[in-house]
Amino acid sequence: MRHWRPISRRAALRDLGALGAAVALGEPHGAFPHADGEVRPVPPNLVLFLVDDMGWQDTSVPFHSSPTPFNDRYHTPSMERLADGGVCFTQAYACCVCSPSRVSLMTGMNAARHRVTNWTLWKDRATDGAQGELMLPEWNVNGIAPLGGDPRAVHARCLPAILRHRGYRTIHVGKAHFGAVGTPGADPRSLGFDVNIAGHAAGGPGSYLGTQNFSGRWRGAEGVWDVPGLEHYHGQDIFLTEALTLEAIREMDAAVTRRQPFFLYLSHYAVHVPFADDPRFVGKYDRAGLDHTEAQYAALLEGMDQSLGDILDRLRYHGIDQDTIVLFMSDNGGLSAYGRGGEPHTHNRPLSSGKGSAHEGGIRVPMIVSWPGIVRPGTTCAHPVIIEDFYPTLLELAGVPEITSPDAQSVVPLLRGEAPGTGSRALHWHYPNCWGPPGPGIGASSTIRRGDWKLIYYHADQSYELFNIAEDIGEERNRARSEPHRVSELADALRDHLLAVDAQMPSLRSTGEPVPLPGESVP
Ligand code: CA
Repeated sequence: MRHWRPISRRAALRDLGALGAAVALGEPHGAFPHADGEVRPVPPNLVLFLVDDMGWQDTSVPFHSSPTPFNDRYHTPSMERLADGGVCFTQAYACCVCSPSRVSLMTGMNAARHRVTNWTLWKDRATDGAQGELMLPEWNVNGIAPLGGDPRAVHARCLPAILRHRGYRTIHVGKAHFGAVGTPGADPRSLGFDVNIAGHAAGGPGSYLGTQNFSGRWRGAEGVWDVPGLEHYHGQDIFLTEALTLEAIREMDAAVTRRQPFFLYLSHYAVHVPFADDPRFVGKYDRAGLDHTEAQYAALLEGMDQSLGDILDRLRYHGIDQDTIVLFMSDNGGLSAYGRGGEPHTHNRPLSSGKGSAHEGGIRVPMIVSWPGIVRPGTTCAHPVIIEDFYPTLLELAGVPEITSPDAQSVVPLLRGEAPGTGSRALHWHYPNCWGPPGPGIGASSTIRRGDWKLIYYHADQSYELFNIAEDIGEERNRARSEPHRVSELADALRDHLLAVDAQMPSLRSTGEPVPLPGESVP
């Protein structure tokens, strides 16, 4: 018989408060002995608040040049609060699906280099959809294997392992999705996290509902989707986002008690499918006349935002808000090709398309950084940055600037308000894979952005799309035919990058030959 023990959020936070009150509030950390035996000044706490599948427009914080109808639809007051005290990156990018972004974040590598180019789940088995005219390369389907030994995984020194070595308490709460079932990377602790709550191989929750034990049984799903490690919430009337928040707060409290700087990686399963009613918020969006699926989505977003507010409140409660850097990010663009209410491919407007696409809707995401005393509050930064940049950024913030990555650049100078370096840095994407549903920009491709120009090279037919993102953010005017010299120039630069990182290309089923590199088939 299941025990029904409804949890009161207020009571839970009060209990956690009693624990926190036992420590000296606001006391400076002083010096701290590190794993290597040296004593150094204590670095700031780092909170990386990562949202799953959240689109660029899925917030009341405007990231476009002016507010859009979606900014009116969604209510994210805690993001507004974070933005008021920090800087919004209006041209922040991730990969178009989950695992590549998360592996880039943990390793500092571009996806073309680490070869975890698509989402992972089963050991030694690709998750790609039907492949048509392409035969896909043997990408790293097992994800990250930090200790090596797996021929289908990338071996790397991961971000949390370095932070832990430098004295941080490294806390993983929420979705992991770093490695396949039955491989070391499935457990975030193998990447250097001291503690893992609720993270495993799967990239989505079985259910958001405690009353369903966060299991996918309600929809006949395999047990692999059941969220682990939250058994004490089973049967309770609590939403997954809130359970994860309570766990994160408990871990932060414990780190404060130990007087240890912490890296909290709070990686929400929200707002990934399968959507469910969050009773705290869904009613007002239903009453506003939204299609119920869209009301569920808006409520998922607001629940995520409530979590952010609870974390910010907790930092303030402990008196450590001025000693903590908070970074907000999403791992890919908003879902739009299926599973949403209304017309597909419209949910990220003015951006084209959504998750799975090389168009802006699939890769441009909301990013905010708060760094009290350093970042000028309420500002924006339009310099393009990409998810692998988090690796050197977090290391520099933690006082480890000597570990860098050839693919990534620290954004710390941007946070300090310094001008970005001279020259136009190019950003790269490589997705020699098949996501599934069709749509604008969806398909195996390689992409480069340099300055305002973006070139997409589609592997299946070796065609190009060329857009000027500054003039045409909706990617409606393909200028590949009218600007062949620019296509040629960008294709050459993209080819040089792919060669430099030894990127894998698919092969053509018709000939068995590898797809030509960009620049080798300029129209
Ligand atoms: Ca995702």
